[in-house]
Amino acid sequence: MDDESARTTDGSAASARTDTDGFAYSPLLPTDGEGPRMRRLDIGGVETTTTEVAGTSRTFLTVAPETLTDLAEVAFKEISHYLRTDHLASLRAIIDDPEASDNDVFVALDLLQNAAVSAGEILPMCQDTGTAIVSAKRGPNVLTDGDDARHLSRGIGRAYEELNLRYSQLAPTSLFEETNTGTNLPAQIEVALSPADDYELLFMAKGGGSANKSFLYQETKAVLNESAMLDFLAEKISTLGTAACPPYHLAVVIGGPSAEFTLKTAKLASAHYLDDLPETGDAELGHGFRDREFEKTVFELTQNLGFGAQFGGKYFCHDVRVVRLPRHNGSLPIAIAVSCSADRQIIARINSGGVFIEELEHDPARFLPAMGRVEEIESGNVTAIDLDRPMPDLQAQLSELSVGDRVSLTGTVIVARDIVHAELRDRLDAGGELPDYFKDHPIYYAGPAKTPEGMSSGSFGPTTSSRMDTYVRQFQEAGGPMIMLGKGNRSAQVKSSCAEFGGFYLGSIGGPAARLAQDCITSVEVLDMEELGMEAVWKIHVEDFPAFIITDDKGNDFFDSTGPPTLGLGRTRTVRDGTRLD
Ligand code: SF4
Repeated sequence: MDDESARTTDGSAASARTDTDGFAYSPLLPTDGEGPRMRRLDIGGVETTTTEVAGTSRTFLTVAPETLTDLAEVAFKEISHYLRTDHLASLRAIIDDPEASDNDVFVALDLLQNAAVSAGEILPMCQDTGTAIVSAKRGPNVLTDGDDARHLSRGIGRAYEELNLRYSQLAPTSLFEETNTGTNLPAQIEVALSPADDYELLFMAKGGGSANKSFLYQETKAVLNESAMLDFLAEKISTLGTAACPPYHLAVVIGGPSAEFTLKTAKLASAHYLDDLPETGDAELGHGFRDREFEKTVFELTQNLGFGAQFGGKYFCHDVRVVRLPRHNGSLPIAIAVSCSADRQIIARINSGGVFIEELEHDPARFLPAMGRVEEIESGNVTAIDLDRPMPDLQAQLSELSVGDRVSLTGTVIVARDIVHAELRDRLDAGGELPDYFKDHPIYYAGPAKTPEGMSSGSFGPTTSSRMDTYVRQFQEAGGPMIMLGKGNRSAQVKSSCAEFGGFYLGSIGGPAARLAQDCITSVEVLDMEELGMEAVWKIHVEDFPAFIITDDKGNDFFDSTGPPTLGLGRTRTVRDGTRLD
């Protein structure tokens, strides 16, 4: 239900004014839009009371602890399973764009199918269900018991316990030892004051891959002109790579009163939380603003990088936000941040009308193209690989293909990541051998979310492969793995090792973990190191599991053909199906 009573503003723009004594003030980030469409939640515990305070009548809004707890639980359930309508429409626009590469279209379709599976409220959209973050603003007449972070944390903990999510938070027990808290808490919760009459909360679930792509650069005025800034951004945006599962919502923040404010602004902008900023600066008030023209220029730049939606094309980004902030004349902080394919954020508001939450899209399937078009995209240029054949046969088949080619995998895959790799390296260092399963089968870098009752797998997408780079040469020298499967780009040492030992690295689409679990993973069993829990060695059976050849046995790497445009802006350089077109 869309409810007008939810549409109070945060009042920050209203507070940008000149006082009667001539003092001019504006918040750094004045936003004054209508905000998203909201629906009223069936959550009680909000009461208004009017009373006399110091001779003035004031109306207070009292919010019970359970109200915050229930709201947080609902918010994390929503963002674990649903996306914003705009995000889904943007994926569909990729499919409909005749200039999108075949790989762009395939990835966009997979992500839309994933959204449709996730909307069943059983499998979360991504296996990395994130760090819980709450950024809130509370008006002066909103009364709580002051322990808001505790009550919100309780609701977050409930959501992670009751849903099929994953616990990713590690408590430091000494300087170098850590233990999983088993609740996904603690969360990052910040509540600020605002002059508004309501309590506004932004809930986010930020996966590790996406969080790792927040960068701060301490620059100088030398980059504060269009040409130098574009060169700077082309280089820095290229370093984002694909490990955080593009297409991205990219945010660039230029300036800021401190490094931490600049970074936080970038995170909020990537969540489209600052979309209503003014579009021009103000010489007297000095507040931040959005530069929509420069956003278009940077967006065009991202389309020319060649990465596309993970495997070549033009859709590295859905969109770009550029925010300019005031700065000290001796500093120029610049921040870059992304919201990934798990674009998980939701705004909630508590006011005299009750508790409201942003309407996410509960029918993502309506964005899927017609069935004939789905089959056409899926059956495009793809090579089927039977993974249960001997490893030398698989290497020979892959050797016939080129980087950027799409393959469809069926058969046995071994799942292992960081801790298993460290244990096996210790074994090799002690004079031992790799287990046969590491030599005979492809290794998938992944870690599942909880397995829902009655299903063979929880959400089970790839993790960032580069974390395993340092093991590859030593392991391949010892016999395996000759086929690796994960997401994102690898280092030069992986490329040279694959060339020397006949290895391959295949890129799995980052993001559609729910679809992989439902449609492509038919069995999951623990194979070794069971004591590591989620980090154990798993043996899984996959069917029609989509992947792309990233690194081959001849020293080729798909990402060698991507990077900052070197031909100047306005000239396109795209990679289509792995082929660079200048
Ligand atoms: S979509 Fe990719 S980057 Fe985002 S949370 Fe999932 S695995 Fe991490």
